[in-house]
Amino acid sequence: MAQAPNVREVDAIVIGAGFSGLHATKRLTDMGLSVRAFDAAEGVGGVWTWNRYPGARTDSLHMTYCYSFDRDLLNEWGYSEVNPRQPEVLAYLRHVADRFDLEQYYTFGTSVTSAVYDEAAGRWVIETDHGETVSATYFVTGLGLVSAPLQPTAPGLEKFRGEVHHTARWPHHEVDFAGKRVAVIGTGSSGVQLVATIADRVGSLTVFQRTANWVAKTPNRPVGAAELDEIRQDYDTIWKRVRHHPAGWPWEMPTRSALETPPDERERVFEQQFEEGGFALLYNAFSDLSTDKAANDLLCDFMRRKIQEMVDDPELAAKLTPTHPYGAKRPPTTDGYYQAFNKPNVGLVDLRETPIEAFTENGIRTSAGEHEFDMIVLATGFDAITGAFTRMQIRGVGGRDLNEYWSDGPKTYLGLAVPGFPNMFTVAGPQTPFSNLPPGAQAQGSWISDAISWMREHDQAAMHPTEAAAEGWTALCNEIAESLPATSVAADANSWFTGANVEGKAVAYNIYFGGHGSHADLCDEEAASEYPSFAKIPALVEQPA
Ligand code: NAP
Repeated sequence: MAQAPNVREVDAIVIGAGFSGLHATKRLTDMGLSVRAFDAAEGVGGVWTWNRYPGARTDSLHMTYCYSFDRDLLNEWGYSEVNPRQPEVLAYLRHVADRFDLEQYYTFGTSVTSAVYDEAAGRWVIETDHGETVSATYFVTGLGLVSAPLQPTAPGLEKFRGEVHHTARWPHHEVDFAGKRVAVIGTGSSGVQLVATIADRVGSLTVFQRTANWVAKTPNRPVGAAELDEIRQDYDTIWKRVRHHPAGWPWEMPTRSALETPPDERERVFEQQFEEGGFALLYNAFSDLSTDKAANDLLCDFMRRKIQEMVDDPELAAKLTPTHPYGAKRPPTTDGYYQAFNKPNVGLVDLRETPIEAFTENGIRTSAGEHEFDMIVLATGFDAITGAFTRMQIRGVGGRDLNEYWSDGPKTYLGLAVPGFPNMFTVAGPQTPFSNLPPGAQAQGSWISDAISWMREHDQAAMHPTEAAAEGWTALCNEIAESLPATSVAADANSWFTGANVEGKAVAYNIYFGGHGSHADLCDEEAASEYPSFAKIPALVEQPA
């Protein structure tokens, strides 16, 4: 049912036009619900509309960086590379929106600033930055894990007279690097992809590194028509594997242990999976790399030697080598990052030795002195996972403020719903697994629309998880993260996984590290048992006069 943009009362409000929001919108409208959907960007695409910096590409594998709900959609789409570039992923999402006519539900260029639950009416009332007020029975967020960009904390950026670009707010026009003295602050996935891509285009490049990162090779290469045909024949197996894999990859987990494999053979396997690229090293080499600190140390030792091979200057190689376990920060994948530092025009500033004190008219002043630039690129990441929620005002039953409720870290059930916020559902929200995003977003959006269908069929006006369920889920998320060598805060990686990358933010386990497959199992069990962890608010049944 199409909704003209001026309709103020609908069945459901959706925020987001990325993988999460688009699919939720499709599911809810397929059920016959009226939907108003909003996105701050000027069109569909989510993170892929904003993060258009040179070198931006997914490091998920092309054949599963898409939805699986429609076999025709799968068969008619084919990415041209193993790790599709940003324009191609954006084109895919636009194709999905066109094919299912989803844009009609969206108001673009519009941010939702507040969402307040009106208990008496049993409706969510949202306000936008364009002054519009809309109310709905159901409120579904697809805000994205990494959608609230972080600015550097040092003062004076406004004084800088050159160009400033944030990787997550990259301009739509071509940025000219030729001959320029460029600074890149940040060495996460965005920073390393950018550095590897622009190192040959700039006059000079200075990388400001706060925490070094383990950077894997990319498995990228072109994908041909014959290979795509084969993949299409194999989709049943591929999606079955994705459903059960901890990270939503089309792989089986290995059974061999790194610790129990003889050194020569272990080295051969590491080498093979390193060459394979991307997440193969972490997931396909051995069974215990994520679960056993001693096994993870062996991988770190292998990577340390790799960095020494790739970087000519041993001192520089040491600075580029992380001290945290492999996987404690999400490992970026790109080719040519380490090798870029062998070029005479590329340098590193180690911010642990010489922190940034201020931005100046001409560049950046560290404790060691001023560096002059024509351009500063902020690859400084995000107030991830919870940031997009806490930058809005969200109030539930009794005026409960989500910001206050989450002040020590998020509390949800299954990462899908929050006590005191009836009929608010979150796709890819806090305390969901960190995995290949599209399969997770699709599974969670389907779970949510199924829950809404169930309520409508069972005369339930609303539901929200009990406090006990959310406490139990939070305790489980904490327990799993604590038990793993890379995800425990003891790994000390300054990771956005825990919020440690944001000054003043509560450090908490914001992700369910039990894996995509196990999360899907738990969600299925909850639905099959008719949502026992949820308090239900029955619909008022009209009495005959
Ligand atoms: P990120 O991983 O959080 O990296 C941000 C970088 O900026 C870090 O090196 C951080 O240092 C540094 N930084 C932040 N504030 C700083 C400050 N005030 N001074 C100096 N350095 C500062 O962010 P991202 O690279 O944008 O990536 C975020 C996530 O987005 C990724 O982990 C990934 O999940 C997704 N992503 C994926 C791809 C892909 O290849 N598919 C590409 C881009 C992004 P610290 O480490 O010390 O905090």
